[in-house]
Amino acid sequence: MGRMSVQGEASILAREGKIAYAGPASGLEISEAEGAQVIDAGGRAVVPGFVDSHTHFVFAGYRADEFLARAAGASYMDIHRSGGGILRTVADTRAADLGLLAALGEMRAWAMLQDGVTTAECKSGYGLDKETELRQLEAMSLVAERTPLEIVPTYMGLHATPPEFAGRTSEYVDYAIAEVLPAVAAQGIARFADAFCEQGVFGVEDSERFLAAAGALGLGLKVHAEEMRRTGGAALASRLGAASADHLLKADDSDLALLASSGVVATCLPLTSFCLREGHARARAMIDSGCAVALATDLNPGSACSGSVPLLAALAVLQLGMSLSETIAALTINGAAALGLADRIGTIEIGKDADFVVLDAPSASHLAYRTGVNIVKATVKRGSIAYRS
Ligand SMILES: [Zn+2]
Repeated sequence: MGRMSVQGEASILAREGKIAYAGPASGLEISEAEGAQVIDAGGRAVVPGFVDSHTHFVFAGYRADEFLARAAGASYMDIHRSGGGILRTVADTRAADLGLLAALGEMRAWAMLQDGVTTAECKSGYGLDKETELRQLEAMSLVAERTPLEIVPTYMGLHATPPEFAGRTSEYVDYAIAEVLPAVAAQGIARFADAFCEQGVFGVEDSERFLAAAGALGLGLKVHAEEMRRTGGAALASRLGAASADHLLKADDSDLALLASSGVVATCLPLTSFCLREGHARARAMIDSGCAVALATDLNPGSACSGSVPLLAALAVLQLGMSLSETIAALTINGAAALGLADRIGTIEIGKDADFVVLDAPSASHLAYRTGVNIVKATVKRGSIAYRS
C-alpha cells in the first residue's frame, strides 16, 4: 500500500473501454487522424477511479433530526432503541415505490461520479421483508443502467430486526434465510450478502448461519464487524472467508492478525466515526500488521449521510495516520479487492477497465492537502467521460 508508482509526462490509451496503453507519452503513437479522441489533461494528475466499497445509497427519507440529536449528546444506540435509526428508514423505504427509489439512487450516483467514484457497492437492508429487499436491489440495477456508475449490489438481510419480528430476532433470521435469500439468489442482482454483527443487533451465531446460507447460494460475504462493541465479527469474517470486514473500531490485535492472515480486506469508514464522534479505526495498526485496508464512505441516511471522498481522504491522512499512497490504494485497488474485482479495476494498468479520474491539480497529494475540496476535473468510466466539471 505504501508503494505507489508515479509516472510523469504520461499518456493513457483506452480502447473499447479497456486500457490499451499507460506509460510515457513518448511511447504512444496514435492521433485524432486515426479516429482517437484525444484529451489533453494539461499537466493535471490522473489517478485510478475511486471504488467506494461500502455504501447504503439507495434509500428513502432523511434523518437530519437524529444527526442533530446525536450532536447534542444522544448515542446511536439510544436512537436505535427508541424506534429511530435504521427502522425509520425501513418504514420510509417500504413506502417508496421502485420509481422513487431508483430516482433517489440515480441522483446520488451522479453525485458520486462527481467525486471521482467509478464503482460503488450498495447495500439493501432498508426493506427487511422480501418484497422491499427485492425492490431495493432492482432499483440498484436501474441506477446502473441509467448512469455510468458501476454498482455492486449487496443483500444486507441482517441490518436490523424489523418491527413485525420485534423481540424475535432469531425467527427473523430464519425468515431471511428461508424466504428472502432464495428469492434474492433467483433475482440474480445481488453479488454479496452482509450482516450487522453487533451486540444488541445480530449475534455471531445468527450472523454465521445467515452468511453461511448466503455463501452456499453463491453470494460473496461481508460483515459489519466490531463497530460499537467487540462482538466477534472479525473472527467470523475470517472463518467464513469473507471479502471484507467493515468498521472495526473495536477490533483488537488478535482480530487484526486474523484478518491479515486470512486475506479479509479491513474496511475503514472514517466518515462514520467522524459523524458519530466515536474515535477512528486503527488503520495504522492494521496496515502495520499486514492487513489490506480499504477506505469507503458508508453513505447512508443515519450514521454518515455523506459520500464525500475529499473529506474521507483528509480524515485518512490527518486522523488515521495513513500516507497519501496508502490512502489512494485504500480508495482504489483495495476497495476493488473488497468487491472481488481487483483483477479488473482499481489501478491504471494495461488490460484493466479504463476507469480514472483527472484531478484539477498537478499532483495527487492535493486530494488530501486541499482539505475537503472536490478537485475532480473529469471522471472517466470504461474509457468514456462520465462527468466533467
Ligand atoms: Zn454500513
